[in-house]
Amino acid sequence: MNLILLGAPGAGKGTQATKIAARYGLVHISTGDIFRANIKNGTEIGKLAKSYTDAGELVPDSVTCEIVKDRLTWDDVKNGNGYLLDGFPRNLFQAEALDTFAHIDGVVNINIDQALLLDRLCGRRVCKECGESYHVSTLNGATTCARCGGELYRRKDDNPETVQSRLAVYNEQTAPLIDYYTKKGIILNFTGSEAPAEVLFEEIGKVLDTFVK
Ligand code: AMP
Repeated sequence: MNLILLGAPGAGKGTQATKIAARYGLVHISTGDIFRANIKNGTEIGKLAKSYTDAGELVPDSVTCEIVKDRLTWDDVKNGNGYLLDGFPRNLFQAEALDTFAHIDGVVNINIDQALLLDRLCGRRVCKECGESYHVSTLNGATTCARCGGELYRRKDDNPETVQSRLAVYNEQTAPLIDYYTKKGIILNFTGSEAPAEVLFEEIGKVLDTFVK
């Protein structure tokens, strides 16, 4: 089963992606994680991506599509049960490119009230080790991950100015994909909320369980 996870920044894609990938044995492929790893390691891709990710803009399509196309040829994907694309595609060009090198079975779309997102993203802290997300308001001053003990940090693009531009990019370029995949008949719509991530995951799981059979 090959899936796409769609939703605005802060909708909870990363958290749901980890859970979905674990439950169905899918390879989790996050283009944002790939760019952050490249930036951290100072690669050529990282040098190119940095100015875009810092500004909350999209890294050029040619680079992004090549990265994903290549990633789908790795052994874990070739020998696995399928994959979950998290953060890709982000616009119509990428979606059409993806159609030329992949078969997608379903698109999990998380709709969320955007009024919730600014606070959610600006207060987000992420574990450097396992990627788990927290909100400062629930941490009681803790600086390490409750799951693995890793150090928590604030993503460089989780500041009010960059968040605004990421939301604008989502509304202009990514939201049209909802229509694109609705027309293809493969969209699965869910509503995100302030409820714990487990609540949404349960709903997604119920639908995907029937989808897998
Ligand atoms: P994310 O972790 O998905 O929020 O992505 C963080 C940043 O990485 C984005 O704001 C973009 O700068 C870049 N990025 C991630 N995925 C893509 C993509 N599919 N196309 C272009 N840029 C991307």
